[in-house]
Amino acid sequence: MSDLPSPSRPVPAPTAADSAGSDASAAPAPTPAPGAAALPLVMEEPRGRRKPPRHLADLTLDERAEHVSGLGQPGFRAKQLSTHYFSRLVDDPEEMTDLPAAQRAELVAALLPPLMTPLRTMEADRGTTRKTLWKLFDGALVESVLMRYPDRATVCVSSQAGCGMACPFCATGQGGLQRNMSTAEIVEQVVASARSLDRGEVPGGPGRVSNVVFMGMGEPLANFKAVIGAVRRLTDPAPSGLGMSARGVTVSTVGLVPRINQLAEEGIPVTLALSLHAPDDELRNELVPINTRFSVAETVEAAWNYARTTKRRVSIEYAMMRGINDQAERADLLADVLLSYGDWGWVHVNLIPLNPTPGSKWTASDPRDEREFVRRLEAKGIPTTVRDTRGREIDGACGQLAATEG
Ligand code: SF4
Repeated sequence: MSDLPSPSRPVPAPTAADSAGSDASAAPAPTPAPGAAALPLVMEEPRGRRKPPRHLADLTLDERAEHVSGLGQPGFRAKQLSTHYFSRLVDDPEEMTDLPAAQRAELVAALLPPLMTPLRTMEADRGTTRKTLWKLFDGALVESVLMRYPDRATVCVSSQAGCGMACPFCATGQGGLQRNMSTAEIVEQVVASARSLDRGEVPGGPGRVSNVVFMGMGEPLANFKAVIGAVRRLTDPAPSGLGMSARGVTVSTVGLVPRINQLAEEGIPVTLALSLHAPDDELRNELVPINTRFSVAETVEAAWNYARTTKRRVSIEYAMMRGINDQAERADLLADVLLSYGDWGWVHVNLIPLNPTPGSKWTASDPRDEREFVRRLEAKGIPTTVRDTRGREIDGACGQLAATEG
């Protein structure tokens, strides 16, 4: 993430472009020591982690009613609780006056248990970018970021505590995977931002969340079930969920091919953002280690298949790293790889400037190289934007804040 849109850069599309940036990390990891062993890929969460408390956002409306009935309460209490959570955005039981006082505490404890505590909120861009460090019930730390623009408000959420994808340039990846987050823990990040906007705590007057991007900590498709649950809760009509448009939701991935195909079959037209970062296997094997399981060709084909099935344009995320993946010939190769699936508007490229980090192996491209990269992609007819990252002064990308608290 970094600062406000700069006039010289096209303002990116509303969904895929807004990110707290761990996935496409604007937070470079420290340069590895010479000879340091590459981290292993971790696809499954470590065993034996305790599960977060069950929350109504983990359940469908019918399941909530069942749960309430199991407490000996009438099923309609589930709808009342859901309205407080998703529609009224209330978090104080005292305000839930339609629930009988004698049972209120029991109902709230059963269906609205606390999931996370804000440890720190940092602001940038005159308060319109707010990054929150959350402590989960077991002490795990995750981050979310609210970015308000004149025409939209985007929340970038984490989907895992840590990440097992081991991308060497990413601070989150260096810490490994602690655990998957639950559906409700993911949703709560959005609801917390929705409350802040609703209460007028963010400059610009009361507002609503219009976009959610799964680009915080973690690889969303490695936590598929909980992420799909969260997407459903975000898009279910109130009071079952938040009632957002699926078009406002972007799910990013480094390329878990079977999961991309599965997502295409879910019938929810979210935008897919594929973090490619390199157009050739040799470099991508190094930058995005999951590429050793699924090649560039297999990954791009899955993205194309997603666009074909859902009729949603795919966003190819490409973090520009000086001297590593930003050469003119790689721009040409990237265009050729994408065009091999046709030019029917199925794809656009979103270039992500890294934070400039003097002395790090992973640092920002020279602006001239970035411009030439854009020029070459556009010359071949690939729609290209440069992400306006936000919040540099607050350690823009996911992973940095959690790493410094740890
Ligand atoms: S997949 Fe994981 S390790 Fe790779 S950039 Fe995203 S958060 Fe970092």
